Amino acid sequence: QDKRESLYVLSQWAGKWFRNTLWETEAGRSIGLSYFKERGYREDIIQKFELGYSPDQWTQLIEEAKKAGFQDEYLLDIGLAIQRDDKSLYDRFRGRVIFPIHNLTGRIIGFGGRTLKTEKSTPKYVNSPESEIYHKSDVLYGLNFAKKAVMDADLCYLVEGYADVIAMHQAGVENVVSSSGTSLTTGQIKLISRFTKNVVILYDGDAAGIKASLRGTDMLLEEGLNVKVLLFPDGNDPDSYAKQVGSAAFKAYIEKHQEDFIFYKTRILLKDAQQDPIKRAEVIREVVTSISLIPDEIKVSIFIKQCSTLLDIQERVLLTELNKIRINRA
Ligand code: ATP
Ligand code: MN
Ligand code: MN
Ligand code: MN
Repeated sequence: QDKRESLYVLSQWAGKWFRNTLWETEAGRSIGLSYFKERGYREDIIQKFELGYSPDQWTQLIEEAKKAGFQDEYLLDIGLAIQRDDKSLYDRFRGRVIFPIHNLTGRIIGFGGRTLKTEKSTPKYVNSPESEIYHKSDVLYGLNFAKKAVMDADLCYLVEGYADVIAMHQAGVENVVSSSGTSLTTGQIKLISRFTKNVVILYDGDAAGIKASLRGTDMLLEEGLNVKVLLFPDGNDPDSYAKQVGSAAFKAYIEKHQEDFIFYKTRILLKDAQQDPIKRAEVIREVVTSISLIPDEIKVSIFIKQCSTLLDIQERVLLTELNKIRINRA
């Protein structure tokens, strides 16, 4: 427990160091801060999310941390340092803008670092590894800033990235979290359901986003949450779309275009199936499978009814299919 406390203290120190580097150094201001400004982030938002910058050097953080009295072992344990074969250490985050990841009480437990380079060979994001204080599958980025708004609205928006959470706050929508860096886990869903049972998925409008939204939907349904989905047009994500249309239009758009999971899933799958009867049958099975995951029988019966209308299939047929799916699963 002593060790965990030291890791928290080191993370807090590093967060402050990245922040100082952003605001107080020449490179930080001219590279990092101007990057955030170009993305349209206001200064109060940059402060609120404690954003930072890591200099494009190999050992600057490590050296400063040593001067401040932190041991190598701890730097390695939370992944701020990486060890080479010859045992020498170098900084994990170099030449990147930094997004600190907080736990529910607002303590820093890890970092995401975005490259400023445009070559495809550099990974866009580098994230802290798992550690004694950072269990990725139980953390949602932004939840510490969102929890009150989530409870007030009794609704949580779920997005893909750090930038999306921040852009939505700036647009005035604060009930938003992201599973940044992992695909959605059951632990993360249980965390959301402590604050609300209503989730709206706002994933990127690209192939990866659609795939993740279908998978995420089933997991959320299984945990008994109510799910709506919205995809942004032309491959946009919440951040790029908010920037494109402005805060007011963004808010209007997300309120107007949320779609119940059953309509969303049916629409997406039917688009691929077209008029092919075998493929259409497969779509029906897929949608009924999603419905079968819902633990609440009343909701199940409502969704079966909707599905019957939507697909123009008798309810009786869908119920038979539902039972078959349940028996096969048991
Ligand atoms: P930006 O707007 O800065 O380009 P983004 O959030 O839109 O970032 P996406 O490519 O949509 O980036 O990825 C969504 C999320 O997935 C990121 O915020 C990040 O948490 C994670 N991610 C993306 N690329 C990587 C990577 N190479 N390694 C690890 N995690 C990544
Ligand atoms: Mn994407
Ligand atoms: Mn994105
Ligand atoms: Mn983006």
